[in-house]
Amino acid sequence: MSTRVRFAPSPTGRLHTGGARCALFNYLYARVTGGKFILRIEDTDVKRSSKNYLGDILDGLKWLGMEWDEGPYYQSERLAEYSAVAQRLIEEGLAYRDPEGSAAVYFKMPKVRVSWEDLIHGEISFDCSLLDDLVLIKSDGTPTYNFACVVDDVGLGVTHVIRGDDHISNTPKQIALYRALGKPQPKFAHIPLILGPDKKRLSKRHGAKSVLEYRDEGILSDALFNFLALLSWSPGDEREFMSRGEIIKKFSLKKVKKTAAVFDYEKLLWLNQQYLKRLGDEEAAEGFKRFLPSVERDSGFWLEFARLYKVRVRKFSEIKEAADFFFGDVKYDESAVKEHLFGEDKKNLLGGLFRRLESLQVWEIKELERVVREYAESGGREAKEIIHPVRVALTGRTASPGLFEVMVLLGRQTVLERLKRWVL
Ligand code: GLU
Repeated sequence: MSTRVRFAPSPTGRLHTGGARCALFNYLYARVTGGKFILRIEDTDVKRSSKNYLGDILDGLKWLGMEWDEGPYYQSERLAEYSAVAQRLIEEGLAYRDPEGSAAVYFKMPKVRVSWEDLIHGEISFDCSLLDDLVLIKSDGTPTYNFACVVDDVGLGVTHVIRGDDHISNTPKQIALYRALGKPQPKFAHIPLILGPDKKRLSKRHGAKSVLEYRDEGILSDALFNFLALLSWSPGDEREFMSRGEIIKKFSLKKVKKTAAVFDYEKLLWLNQQYLKRLGDEEAAEGFKRFLPSVERDSGFWLEFARLYKVRVRKFSEIKEAADFFFGDVKYDESAVKEHLFGEDKKNLLGGLFRRLESLQVWEIKELERVVREYAESGGREAKEIIHPVRVALTGRTASPGLFEVMVLLGRQTVLERLKRWVL
């Protein structure tokens, strides 16, 4: 029998880290087993559901590259089906209508012990005689989560229910319902929660955002996919940077840990950096441009710019600060200026270079390097004694990509203008 798993979000909020990781484990399990990944929208709570959240969830899944094989199925379109199943249970004496006359239907909770072999937690058993009768249909005629979930998991032929730990308490109730419906129960895998670095519930404060917010700040889809996969799962070796293909090949529910995962934003940035470094220059340039003022530059500029910066920032949005001196005037770092540009000696030094550069015919990396090195030698200095102050004069800071590359990208006119400020 082939695997059928589902992701069943309620459109009552955006697609966050926890939901996306749950979707991912379902997706991976479907891919590993050659089965189907189904999307079901649990939107029976009309008041709390919204089209915007639904759009956000669908876009988030697509952006992460987790295309579903079937669906989306909408629970709000299946209300008649839930009523019919409830009616059948009433006729079989397993459920009853609200004695006070509302539309509510209750399930007679059987006084039995149920147990299941959880694929992550091992055997879990629960005494249902501790439970009250279960609401199947609420007084407003809509089904409860537990009822609609079971009716649909049966209807869709779901073989494995992979969902968050927080649903463990629902599982005995759902198993009782499978039995009442005379259907075999699926396998259950309850994946652990994600906690913040302080071991408390994950929140915005820890960098937990919706999937599309990560996209909007310049995180790459591949990196987030890789990062989410490692929340409570690892391939069993030390590897962390893995392609989608490798993750799909290695994923197994057996290796999912029982204990909560800790969300580490620094690790996400590190992973993102690994992907960013390997990105083609053209794609990297497009990513950077999203965070830069729209300026006229030729494609040669952008390709070289991307080549220099994709290895220097951890996410696209960092480019704004890292490369601001290319797109507006320099913001000088005070201490860098004090250290590298103050004093008559420094000004004379830059003055000499300024004159050599002014008469330079060819504005190319090799040529600029030759001039700077020769100039240093002629004064009995090391090249870095020139390079440091020039870098601060041109970029305002002590760290930047290679100085000669920067000089070419800035262009002759800007370089000379900026140097001139520091010359006596
Ligand atoms: N709509 C439920 C949730 O978002 C689905 C739980 C389940 O997968 O059964 O938590």
